[in-house]
Amino acid sequence: MADAQINQPGDAIVVGAGWSGLSAAFHLSRQGFAVTVLEQTRQSGGRTFSFCDKRSGELLDNGEHVLLGLCNHFQQLLKAADLDSAVRFQQLLHVPVAAASANSSLGSHKLPGSLHLAPSVLRYRPLLPLERVKVLQAGLAMQMFSSADVFDDVSFADWLKGHRQSANAISAFWEAIGSGLLNARADKVSAALALKTFRMLLSEGWNGARLGLFIRPLSEITHGFQSYLERRGVRFHFGCTVDAIEVQNSQVIALSGPNGRWTADSVILTLPPDRLAKLVRESGLTPKIALPKFEFSPILNVYLFYDSKVLGHDFTLLPDDLGAMIFNRSRLLGAAKAESTTLVVSISAADNLREMPMQDISAMVEKMIRTRLKLPKAQHSRSVWQAHATFLARPGSERLRPGNKTAIGGLYLAGDWTSTGWPACLEGAVLSGQNAARETVLRSERTRLHTANET
Ligand SMILES: Cc1cc2nc3c(=O)[nH]c(=O)nc-3n(C[C@H](O)[C@H](O)[C@H](O)COP(=O)(O)OP(=O)(O)OC[C@H]3O[C@@H](n4cnc5c(N)ncnc54)[C@H](O)[C@@H]3O)c2cc1C
Repeated sequence: MADAQINQPGDAIVVGAGWSGLSAAFHLSRQGFAVTVLEQTRQSGGRTFSFCDKRSGELLDNGEHVLLGLCNHFQQLLKAADLDSAVRFQQLLHVPVAAASANSSLGSHKLPGSLHLAPSVLRYRPLLPLERVKVLQAGLAMQMFSSADVFDDVSFADWLKGHRQSANAISAFWEAIGSGLLNARADKVSAALALKTFRMLLSEGWNGARLGLFIRPLSEITHGFQSYLERRGVRFHFGCTVDAIEVQNSQVIALSGPNGRWTADSVILTLPPDRLAKLVRESGLTPKIALPKFEFSPILNVYLFYDSKVLGHDFTLLPDDLGAMIFNRSRLLGAAKAESTTLVVSISAADNLREMPMQDISAMVEKMIRTRLKLPKAQHSRSVWQAHATFLARPGSERLRPGNKTAIGGLYLAGDWTSTGWPACLEGAVLSGQNAARETVLRSERTRLHTANET
C-alpha cells in the first residue's frame, strides 16, 4: 500500500469535503478534536464548485445556488469564517415573475407570522382570483396539523389536489416555487417533505423568506472556508478515495483506500447515498448499516453570454417553460458596468430533458429566454448538466432517510440526504454535519467519563 498515513487514535476523520463535511470538521475542531478531512477530488466544495469557461474566460459555477433567510446554520458558518458578505440577502422577498399569461411578482410584506405572503398571492396574476383564495386556504391548511410526516406516502400533487388546487395553481404557484426548493415536480415528491418546507417558509415569517444570492463564485467561498478551517488546525487530504471501513468488535478502527490507511476512533462519512452504499457493501457492512436506495434528480444550468447589457435586474422566475429561474450573473458578481452580460438559466427537476442532446437543450433554452424576455440573441452558451444534483425525495422517502448514528461504534453519517427535516440543500447539509459532530462529541464525553470512573 503506497503512502500509508497513520493518524493517532482519538483523532476524528471526516470523509468528504462538501458542505456537510466542512460543517462536521468545523464543529469537531471547535470541540478540540484533531480533524482530518479525506476528499477524493482535488478540491473542497463537493456539489458546489466553479470552473473556468475557456471561451468566455469566466469562472462559472456548477449551478446557481440560492439561500433563504431561514438557512441559519449555513449563514453561521459563513459568518464564523468572515465570508458572510459573499451572500447578499434581499431586505424582503421579491421575485419578478414572467409568466406566459401575465407578468407579475411574488413577495413578502412585513406582516406578522405566516401572513407575509398573503397580499402578493392575492395579486398574483398568473392565477384566477378564486385560485388565489384557494392557494391561501391550502397555505392555512398546511399549518393546521401537528406533524407533516403522516403525509409521507402521498405525493405533494395529490395533497394539493385534495385541497382543491387547480392544475394551473399547482404549476403556476406551488411548482413555480416548490421545484427549486425541492428539486422535484409535485407529482414525484413526498407531501411530507413539501409540506415541511412550505410550512417553514410561511411560519418563519418575512425574515426567513428573504432570498440570499451568492455574489462570489462558489469555489471562492468553499476555498475560503477551507483555509479558515486549516488555520484552525484541520488537515485536508485531497485525491484520497476511501474504499474500505475497518471494524473490530463493532467499533470503527480505520479507513483505507489506494492512498493510505487512517486509524481513528471517530469517523463521519458524508458521501452521497449511492457512494456510501458502495463503500458499506465493499466493506462487508451491509447487514449492519441498512441504506435506502435513492434515485437522483438532475439540475440544468445554461449560461448565456451577450455582448450588450440585458436584463436590468438580478433574477426572474419563468413559471411555465420548465419552471426556470434566470439570474443576471454579471450584476450579481458586480460586473454590471461591463458592456456585456452573462445570464444563467437554472432549471430544477430537469428529468424531462434527460434524453435531449446538450446542444439542442442550449438552443431551446436560449430561444425560450429570447422570446419570453424579448432579449437579443445570445453570442454563445454553455450548459452544465448535474445528473446527480440531489436525491429525489419520492413519496415514502422521508421515513427512509437515516439519522446520524449507525450500529457501529464511532461511525456516523451526514449529508444533505440524511434525516434533516430539510430538502437536499446547503442548510440541510450543514445541519447534518453539525448533528453528526454533536453525536461524535457526546460519545467521546461518555467514553471519557467511563474511563474516569474505572480508574
Ligand atoms: C446544480 C445544483 C444546484 C443547487 N442549488 C442549490 C440551491 O440553490 N440552494 C441549496 O441550498 N442547495 C442547492 N443545491 C444542493 C447543494 O449543493 C447540496 O445539497 C450540498 O452541496 C450537498 O453537500 P454534501 O456535503 O451533503 O454532499 P457533497 O457536496 O456531494 O459532498 C460529498 C463529498 O464526498 C466526496 N466523496 C464521495 N465519495 C468519496 C470517497 N469514497 N472518499 C472520499 N471522498 C468521497 C465527494 O467528492 C464530495 O466532495 C444544488 C446542487 C446542485 C448540484
